[in-house]
Amino acid sequence: MSDLDALLDVQAIDTRLDVLRHQRAHHPIQAEIDGIAAERRIAADAAATIDAERTEMVRAQKRIDDEVVSVRAKKDGAEAKLYDGSVQAHKELMAVQAEIASFGDRQTELEDAELEVMEQVEEIDGRLADARSAVTVYDDRIAVLEAELAVALERVDVELATVEAERLGAAAAIPAALLTRYDGIREALGGVGVARLSGGTCLGCGMTLSAVTVDQIKKLPPDAEPTCEECGRLLVR
Ligand SMILES: [Zn+2]
Repeated sequence: MSDLDALLDVQAIDTRLDVLRHQRAHHPIQAEIDGIAAERRIAADAAATIDAERTEMVRAQKRIDDEVVSVRAKKDGAEAKLYDGSVQAHKELMAVQAEIASFGDRQTELEDAELEVMEQVEEIDGRLADARSAVTVYDDRIAVLEAELAVALERVDVELATVEAERLGAAAAIPAALLTRYDGIREALGGVGVARLSGGTCLGCGMTLSAVTVDQIKKLPPDAEPTCEECGRLLVR
C-alpha cells in the first residue's frame, strides 16, 4: 500500500471523527434543551412580573395597616379624653365625639380597603403559583433532557476515544511530512485533505481534470504526491 493509499484510510477515520465531534458539539438533545430554556426564560419573566405586582400590593397593604394603627391610636386618644374628665364643656365634648366618629369612619374605610387588597393579593398568589409551576415544568423537562444528553454524549465520547485510537494507529504508518501536509490541506479545505482520482475526476472537489493533466499525473513516479489543480487536495491515483 502506498503512503497516499494509507492516507486515504486516515482520511476515512478523520471524516468519522469529524462527524462524531459535530454530534458532540451540536447534539439534537442540546438544541431541544436550548429551545425549552428559551421558553423557560419567558415563563420565569412572567412569574417575576407577577411577583413584582405582589410586592407592590403587599406594600399597599402595609401602608393601610400603618394607617389603621395610627387612626386607632388617635381614636383611643380621643376616647381617653372623653372619659378622663379633661373635657367638660358640652360643646367640646360634642367636638371630641364628632372626632371619634370620624376616626371610626376612617377606620371602617381602611378596613374595607384592606380586605380588598387582601383579596387582590390572594388572586395574585393564585396566578403566581400557576406561573411558578409552569417554570417548574420546564425545569423538570430540562433536567430529564440533560440526563439524556449526558448519556448520549458519553456514548459519543466512548466512540470518539475508540476512533481516535484508530487514527493514531493509522497515522503512524504515514511519513510525518506527508501527514503534516495532509493536515494543513484538510484544515483549509473543510475536512478533506486527500481524495481519489477516479476516471479523471477528483473525488475531493468533483471536478474533472483535463486528459493532459490526468496523463501527467499518471506518469509521475510512484513516490510523487500530486495534488488536484482545481482544489489543491492530495490525489490518490
Ligand atoms: Zn479536486
